[in-house]
Amino acid sequence: MSNQTNLSKSKYCAIWQCPKIAWLRKYMPDEAVVDEGVRSRMAEGSEVGDLAMGLFGDFVEIDTGGGDVPDITKMVAGTAAEMAKGTPVICEASVTYNGLYCAVDILRKTGDGWAIYEVKSSTKRRKDDGTYEDDKEIYVADIAYQKYVLDHCGVNVTGTFLVCLNGDYIFDGRLDLSKLFYISDVSGEVANEIAKIEPKVAEAGKLLASNIEPAVDLHENCNKPYPCAFWRHCTKHIPAQSVFDVYRIPFKKKIELYKKGRITFKALLASGELKNEKQRRQLEFAVGNRDDAYVNREEIAGFLNSLSYPLYFLDFETVQPVIPIYPGTRPYTQIPFQYSLHYIENEGGPLKHSEFLAVPGTDPRRALAEQLCADIPMNVCVTAYNKAFECTIIKRLADTFPDLSEHLLNIREHIFDLLVPFQSGFYYNRAMGNSFSIKSVLPALFPDDPGLDYHNLDQIHNGGEAMSVFPKLASMATEEREETRRNLLKYCELDTFAMVKVWEKLREAAGD
Ligand code: SF4
Repeated sequence: MSNQTNLSKSKYCAIWQCPKIAWLRKYMPDEAVVDEGVRSRMAEGSEVGDLAMGLFGDFVEIDTGGGDVPDITKMVAGTAAEMAKGTPVICEASVTYNGLYCAVDILRKTGDGWAIYEVKSSTKRRKDDGTYEDDKEIYVADIAYQKYVLDHCGVNVTGTFLVCLNGDYIFDGRLDLSKLFYISDVSGEVANEIAKIEPKVAEAGKLLASNIEPAVDLHENCNKPYPCAFWRHCTKHIPAQSVFDVYRIPFKKKIELYKKGRITFKALLASGELKNEKQRRQLEFAVGNRDDAYVNREEIAGFLNSLSYPLYFLDFETVQPVIPIYPGTRPYTQIPFQYSLHYIENEGGPLKHSEFLAVPGTDPRRALAEQLCADIPMNVCVTAYNKAFECTIIKRLADTFPDLSEHLLNIREHIFDLLVPFQSGFYYNRAMGNSFSIKSVLPALFPDDPGLDYHNLDQIHNGGEAMSVFPKLASMATEEREETRRNLLKYCELDTFAMVKVWEKLREAAGD
């Protein structure tokens, strides 16, 4: 094997996933799209990694040198010194062999050797049959690479373990790291993976030495475990309105159609491969440049007749702490901190509004649940947009507060879903494209109304921004906090006002 290959663990994993990712990271890093999802996964990873360091008691964390880029030489020397001392737990333990480098999240002294613990912020849950979900193959490849490097440095690796968050852990007010994390022994899977390392490293050496972009076509792993950051770069040759924009085709099927040359909407329509009525309608409206709307008046009227006055329009905003902070919650449990509620008490009556926004730094659940019960009487008709979310939130609140449970479950039982007319194909226009989310449907129904345009809001324009700003409120200066609170309230209010407007449009369409 060439000793010229300089390869870190993350580069190796990139090669493993798709060789082109590693090449693009080296030669065209600016082509990567780092969105909110990527940033929040990185933040979660680092929060979980920091916490996991304490999993086995006292530990020594190897000093990265303090610069923007870790000082690998210093880290390797620091690790060697700690290992020589027999330090029981070394975090970010760094080793190199023949140009290959890795930093082990946790290296733990075990008898005459060392065990590798790789920490991931994903959750692992027990299945109904008592077994646990399988580990992602990329995690195993990652750990195998670390073992390979350590083995070749002469370290006796006595075990290889994957540390994930235990998705079944319920926080009881005192964080128990031994229960928060689920540790799996992946020695068997790692042993199977080891043989693949040298060929991959050789491949990486050749690939990264050349400045010619590798000819790797799109494949079914381009969105695994997450959509690839270079997707935009790799799809530059694909025309607008392609198979990748069609409503609800599984990604694997999209790749299959792409490889068969069924790429444009026209080609897809001509192929006759799409049997789904909503998919065909999307394509026909787009290809025909149609400005009318498909309206099934009867079905829309039937849906509207299932609603009754007083009529409520409800929307929650939530945070999703990776490490649970409120009793009774698990990693990533959605915690409601805000809602907006529009309502009309009787036919022709005025539109009224109520809202809730938690006091920063407090557990928002009890106050929110109490106000929700005060704001929504029992046995009234409540609408939500994509009701599964609101129903889940309310059910959790009911489980948490048994004294409010009857009222909360009554609200939940009377929730109707405003998404239904769109998702069921009762109403469609070309501007909706392949999405029936409120953020797509609203501008499609009201293209020229600046008051209904989320872009015209200040600071908070979507649920992700609301989720990320709320936890920061507690540490903001008063003026900034007040302004951010106002922006949160305006954002959530627009969500339910949008629902009212959508409902009105449906009434119009049904000829009401
Ligand atoms: S989009 Fe697909 S082909 Fe392109 S770099 Fe990413 S994984 Fe590889």
